[in-house]
Amino acid sequence: MADQITIQLPDGSQRALPVGATGADLAADIGSRLAKAAVAVRVDGRESDLTVPLDEGATVEIITHDTDAGRAVLRHSTAHVMAQAVLDLFPGAKFAIGPPIENGFYYDFDLPGGATFSDDDLERIEARMRDIVGQSQPFVREEHSQDEGLALFADQPYKREIIESVDPSEGATPNVVSTYRNDGFVDLCRGPHVPTTKRLGHFRLLKVAGAYWRGDERRPQLQRIYGTAWESKAALDQHLHVLAEAEKRDHRRLGVELDLFHFEPEVGSGLPLYHPKGGLVRTLMEDYSRAEHQAAGYEFVWTPHIAKRDLFERSGHLQWYADSMYPPMEMEGTAYYPKPMNCPMHMHIYRSQQRSYRDLPLRLFELGTVYRYEKSGVVGGLLRARGFTQDDAHIFCAPDQLASELASLLAFVLRLLRTFGFESFEAELSTRPDKYVGEPGDWDEAEAALASALDAAGLDYVVAEGEGAFYAPKIDIHLRDAINRRWQGPTLQVDFQLPQRFDLEYVGADNERHRPRVIHRALFGSFERFFALLVEHYAGAFPTWLSPEQVRVLPVAADHHDYAGAVVSRLRDGAFRAGRVAADEPLGARIRRAKLEKVPHIVVVGDSDVGAGTVADNRRDGERPERDIPLDEFVARLRAEVDERT
Ligand SMILES: [Zn+2]
Ligand SMILES: [Zn+2]
Repeated sequence: MADQITIQLPDGSQRALPVGATGADLAADIGSRLAKAAVAVRVDGRESDLTVPLDEGATVEIITHDTDAGRAVLRHSTAHVMAQAVLDLFPGAKFAIGPPIENGFYYDFDLPGGATFSDDDLERIEARMRDIVGQSQPFVREEHSQDEGLALFADQPYKREIIESVDPSEGATPNVVSTYRNDGFVDLCRGPHVPTTKRLGHFRLLKVAGAYWRGDERRPQLQRIYGTAWESKAALDQHLHVLAEAEKRDHRRLGVELDLFHFEPEVGSGLPLYHPKGGLVRTLMEDYSRAEHQAAGYEFVWTPHIAKRDLFERSGHLQWYADSMYPPMEMEGTAYYPKPMNCPMHMHIYRSQQRSYRDLPLRLFELGTVYRYEKSGVVGGLLRARGFTQDDAHIFCAPDQLASELASLLAFVLRLLRTFGFESFEAELSTRPDKYVGEPGDWDEAEAALASALDAAGLDYVVAEGEGAFYAPKIDIHLRDAINRRWQGPTLQVDFQLPQRFDLEYVGADNERHRPRVIHRALFGSFERFFALLVEHYAGAFPTWLSPEQVRVLPVAADHHDYAGAVVSRLRDGAFRAGRVAADEPLGARIRRAKLEKVPHIVVVGDSDVGAGTVADNRRDGERPERDIPLDEFVARLRAEVDERT
């Protein structure tokens, strides 16, 4: 019929709608629930507003509010409303850009006279935003010429700069400047937006931070307000809960509270000092790592912290990686660099002698400390440090050993992560990019070996087509922590560049020379980063096997001091980490302090225990103590806990 159009849906079906029908009409035609959840549409792959009439034959996908794309629309629309509120409340404010980001949005402002926002201001802005939401103001798209756009934003220099720089991501192409208007507020924007402000409301403004215009420290510093926005109150509450938990778990804060480590300005940004308790946890991680690598057939090597320019020229680091390296030191007419990676030195250990196929696989392992330059703005506690130690290894193997090496390696990785309390993993296989080194056939073979290792491990994965480094396909493993945050975990790479650059060879069974495969892998990644992750995952309450102090023995009164000492000796004889705190303070205060310090077992001994050879055990997370446990039994239970690493 001439007065109808046919729309293709993503599932391949079709729907007839009246001429002039919009995305909103399509959603309503499909169902009222979809109409309520719709925030925008994707027409032939391009995002657009629900209010735009659809063309005959278009393929249309409804974007709903509970998807990543839908949330981005909600968040960006909320950012507009925030800018609108700020311009209402702060006459003369200039506004810059306000994109959606992971879990939220921000907007950058320049206040008259260099004024800054206070926490009270955030409350006022939020209240004004709620007024705007309550008024159901429609978002109206308009298109202008460049001159009209410049006139529209006559007193907004940042907007004018965007228009003049013709940034299509901000709604400024050479011919068309697009804007969205709600009420009297107009913003330069590509869209799409929700149809009206009434679709918003589940948001919260979080904090203010300084940010340079265009990220350039020579340009003006702006005030950036961060907020979060979601499709429902439940989703917003859940996110605010995660934020509150994350703050409680922040490793920088717990590192100080639990006396684990600190950063000293005089030492330098990103260069941690581990205190005895943090040092002990780290030592336990190292001991575990060494024992497991030994059992898995790795050989241990050590290499120096600095090396000559020549090495990093050969490895390609000075070509590809110089921005992340520290500047060189000049000595005896030669430049020496702190090493950013251990790989080049391991290549030299391999090539220090002639290798035969009988030597392979050769697995070289090192607790290697490396130094990488991170801008001071991105250094973040132990998560992004400037000096750190990797549990680094390189596996040299024959091509036909690659699949089995990768399979056992991946099993090793998962065992390690599970030992440290992680249970939820997501894997990604990144394949050959457009520009690459090596032979396509070798890449195919390595990618197949990586995929079969993932299958053997029973790990679901996504393929990131073309996302590998130019020299290596890889598996990236992400983990979920106790509050379901996603963290970058171990990476396994098959390298096609270094074997070539270092001209690595082995003599095969056929007596010919062959190029070995090289696998790079670090399991913790860096001890610093993984330590931070553990602190946050466990909220500082390390499991007994990792706790710096496993048992604290508290005599009820001075009379029980000697017996408490005997209990401590018994525990120390069993190689447990135990201490005693004398009855100089009330018992309740000592128990509270031990709980704050997250000691897993707080043992109390009183009159009846002295006679019977028993103890009372308070768990740091328990409500009531368990009394009258024979000391032998307590020791046996503790042994089991430590052996099972729980
Ligand atoms: Zn916008
Ligand atoms: Zn490496």
